[in-house]
Amino acid sequence: MASLALQLVLFALVLPPHLLVSVSCAKSCFWPSSAHDDGGCLSWRVMVEANNARGWRTVPAPCVGYVKGYMTRGQYGRDLGSVMEQVSAYVDQIAAADDGLDAWIFDIDDTCLSNLLYYQAKRFGAYDPLAFKNWASQGACPGIPAVLQLFMTLQDKGFKLFLLSGRDEETLGSCTSENLESEGFSGYERLLMRTPDYRGQSSSVFKSAMRKQLVDEGYRIRGNVGDQWSDLQGDNVGDRVFKIPNPMYFVP
Ligand SMILES: [Mg+2]
Repeated sequence: MASLALQLVLFALVLPPHLLVSVSCAKSCFWPSSAHDDGGCLSWRVMVEANNARGWRTVPAPCVGYVKGYMTRGQYGRDLGSVMEQVSAYVDQIAAADDGLDAWIFDIDDTCLSNLLYYQAKRFGAYDPLAFKNWASQGACPGIPAVLQLFMTLQDKGFKLFLLSGRDEETLGSCTSENLESEGFSGYERLLMRTPDYRGQSSSVFKSAMRKQLVDEGYRIRGNVGDQWSDLQGDNVGDRVFKIPNPMYFVP
């Protein structure tokens, strides 16, 4: 009988290379384990984008540098551009009917407006409602150019655009609309923000209710763009949904 060592060698010789990598990595390949383990952090980001990792409160400490690099050194922009290419390919195939009821939905935070400066300053720490409200109330979130381009293209094609945000309407309504306007997001059909009735409800529940309201009004949601899966799941999500990358935070 062959020894255990010989058996392992024979096993390795017949195993395809990609499976050899899996065997040797074990768990460490799929979860961040050290400050310089970009591979683990890449896997973590993929899990986030695929909606496999849920309910996380903060970027894992070993991946803070990785996320900062991803967001600021070009890859985020490239990934966002790739998403926009997919949206454009879809938009090229559809047309708005003359009845004015073909609609698109856009999330606001980290879809139309960027909060990267805020989260970077917070070192991508856990969500801090008061600090975020202070940031948002300044009305100084930079617009995201690739999304603005899509926004304008859809307007030119005759779609009705709805901005749907979990931000509190009472306290952040005016600064949000001013911020959108100053960054070029104007001419939309309606800005829908969280009213007191929906305080404490998950984003998914609140946004589903708002979309249902639009569908009940007769609108056909042809597309839906957001950076969180909770923007894109639930009821009446639309004919197509497009997920913008965001490894900075998770909204249920
Ligand atoms: Mg968002």
